[in-house]
Amino acid sequence: MVEYPGFNFDIVKKDSQTNARLGYLTTPHGSFETPNFIFCATRAAIKCGGPEDLKAVQTDIILSNTYHLLLRPGPDLVEKMGGLHKFMNWDGPMLTDSGGFQIFSLGHGSVAEEIKGKNKTNTVKTLRKITEKGATFKSYIDGRMHTLTPESSIDVQRKLGADIILVLDECTPFHVDKRYTERSMELSHRWADRSLEEFKRGHNGKQSLYGIVQGGVYEDLRLRASEFISSRPFFGHAIGGSLGADKQQMYEVVDFAMAGLSKDRPIHLLGIGGIDDIWENVAKGIDTFDCVSPTRLARHGWALHRTGKKFKLNIHNASNREDERPLEEECDCSTCQNYTRAYIHYLIKAKEIQGMRLIVIHNMRFMMRLLSTIRTAIKEDRFLETKKAWLQE
Ligand SMILES: [Zn+2]
Repeated sequence: MVEYPGFNFDIVKKDSQTNARLGYLTTPHGSFETPNFIFCATRAAIKCGGPEDLKAVQTDIILSNTYHLLLRPGPDLVEKMGGLHKFMNWDGPMLTDSGGFQIFSLGHGSVAEEIKGKNKTNTVKTLRKITEKGATFKSYIDGRMHTLTPESSIDVQRKLGADIILVLDECTPFHVDKRYTERSMELSHRWADRSLEEFKRGHNGKQSLYGIVQGGVYEDLRLRASEFISSRPFFGHAIGGSLGADKQQMYEVVDFAMAGLSKDRPIHLLGIGGIDDIWENVAKGIDTFDCVSPTRLARHGWALHRTGKKFKLNIHNASNREDERPLEEECDCSTCQNYTRAYIHYLIKAKEIQGMRLIVIHNMRFMMRLLSTIRTAIKEDRFLETKKAWLQE
């Protein structure tokens, strides 16, 4: 048994037609409703946006990446500065990942690059060795070697001090076969138990631990993994690893993983944030999402938009040059209240950071409005019809 005194997860309402659910997640730094979206402050900062902007768009929870913070500025410095919340001036709920995803994705080349067939271009292989003990990798900053073990990942995340922390797992690359995926999943399970032991050893009641479901694209492995993770005293679950080559396969893999998961705990889907993906996976019972895409798209001049092609507007387009409308008419964000598409188009063309910032603010607010729409739809028993209207099904 592990107690999580500062934490609670209540399922407030279940949708009658799908597996969507409305939840309430409490952490020592505040509570929020689910489904919800977690913005990525990868290196303890949202690129082109500060904690003030996060507050203004009514963000509930953010995440930072253990891998990056381990290399710089280092967990000891963050601890000395009073922990990540104080260090970066964010007093709300926060999650850190285990560092595993970056070690393996940077080490092997990312899944997306592999699918696009770009695996061999410009990818510095930083991963050196995976053993029973842990993973050894080379710092991309100064070339020094580091070993991350299940125990040291928990120790680093304890020093960072986020509310929700994750176990170290091996993120299997997309191209490996079933045998490798199975052996890797079994290793991740042994690591999950070691993570729990280390978590219990230093447990201070201020953090909660999530177990991660691996198993690649294989139905039987995902079932075994989800049943294993559910049998352990984690506060919540995350679905990770390779989710397949396309959206259809991703939805299938999430179904495989959901089949064996304990439904009374919060369930997070790692690294997914497409608008249609959020609707589809909320319908499967996913409670929280994270993805760099809303802020990354913004920095590349793409504004999220309900009726845009694939929910996006390309602000680079010349059609915006004299457009006096805001990015989105119905949006209540400070960008849409105060600035025209013409001005933002000009800023992006001129490569002004303010242009990126204005779209980052809009895209973050768009995501918060989307998740709020989803929660209201579940509350009012019209989730499926709202989903159909959004996805034009
Ligand atoms: Zn806006």
